[in-house]
Amino acid sequence: APTATPRRIQALDESVVNRIAAGEIIVAPVNALKELIENSVDAGSTSIDIAVKDGGLKLLQITDNGHGIDREDLPILCERFTTSKLKAFEDLAAIGTYGFRGEALASISMIAHLTVTTKTKDSSCAWRAVYSDGKLVPPKPGQSADPKPVAGRQGTQITVEDLFYNTPSRRRAFRSGSEEYAKILDVVGRYAVHCGGVSFSCKKHGDSDVGLSTSSTANLQDRIRRVHGSAVANELIAFDTANKDLGFTAKGMLSNANYHVKKTTLLLFINGRSVESSAIKKALDAVYSTFLPKGGHPFVYLSLDIEPHRVDVNVHPTKREVNFLHEDEIIEKICTAAQDKLADVDTSRSYALTQT
Ligand code: ADP
Ligand code: MG
Repeated sequence: APTATPRRIQALDESVVNRIAAGEIIVAPVNALKELIENSVDAGSTSIDIAVKDGGLKLLQITDNGHGIDREDLPILCERFTTSKLKAFEDLAAIGTYGFRGEALASISMIAHLTVTTKTKDSSCAWRAVYSDGKLVPPKPGQSADPKPVAGRQGTQITVEDLFYNTPSRRRAFRSGSEEYAKILDVVGRYAVHCGGVSFSCKKHGDSDVGLSTSSTANLQDRIRRVHGSAVANELIAFDTANKDLGFTAKGMLSNANYHVKKTTLLLFINGRSVESSAIKKALDAVYSTFLPKGGHPFVYLSLDIEPHRVDVNVHPTKREVNFLHEDEIIEKICTAAQDKLADVDTSRSYALTQT
């Protein structure tokens, strides 16, 4: 017979609960960075610069020229569920901006040292604030926790240091900073391609050469060229399709039959958010199988806008998965449009070949 007596049930300390919740949203530096990029884009920035140390574990810094944050809002900036983007639950359905639950900065402040420097256009100076566990804290012991006036340009700089410092087991799970840096470059590259009118740069802190940079005036093809190279940029077909009944519009760039690589690159944005979809990837691969040699795969950039009330963005804490209504039908429509485009180009190509 069992001899052990049950252990008493106890409530976890609030800060422990918060830390656990934060770890579900931010499992790697790249998750934090994606939230910060989305915030900068939401703030109307035309310039976003990123510096990274040790794959983002030591330092993740993002500087934008967006509308900034009011001095009065700084005390509650990093509290959970504080947001300027959502007032009622019903708003969730119609949300057009990236952020929607006011959890990103709160989460980051639970598991890292977070410093915010920000200036709005009406403020005569910038303000610097340091956060821990969702609250303002003194930058150094003995100093005041109040935001401090500093010199600075309009926009916001967010500095995240020592990510996972208080969750040592998570911190130890990262063996190399270079692997995390590669993931960071991948995500920055995705937004750099997608966000026309915004310049992006990303580099290792202290390095003179940038890992990635795009200009705010570059067109879509040139942005793809900057991030993915000329080999693919020279072989692109623009495509778009829409359907009123299904409530979507899609546009993008497809590589043509001259281009193929070992693995499919799919840059997928749904309502402006970088997401993944193995269903869309599989369907596109099937379309290309008749155009490319065996084992060859395409490059596809696809920006899909679906009426907000048909999309459920609130399915996963990291917001990577997005569910939407009539997924199969929408994918089919997109694939038919892609198929037609590829076939068009393919016929004109073989026609041109027979003419010479
Ligand atoms: P959410 O984006 O869901 O609102 P966040 O925690 O990411 O939640 O951000 C909280 C709030 O802080 C935002 O609603 C916005 O008002 C402000 N904010 C965050 N980052 C920036 C930024 N780079 N520029 C201007 N405002 C920002
Ligand atoms: Mg946000």
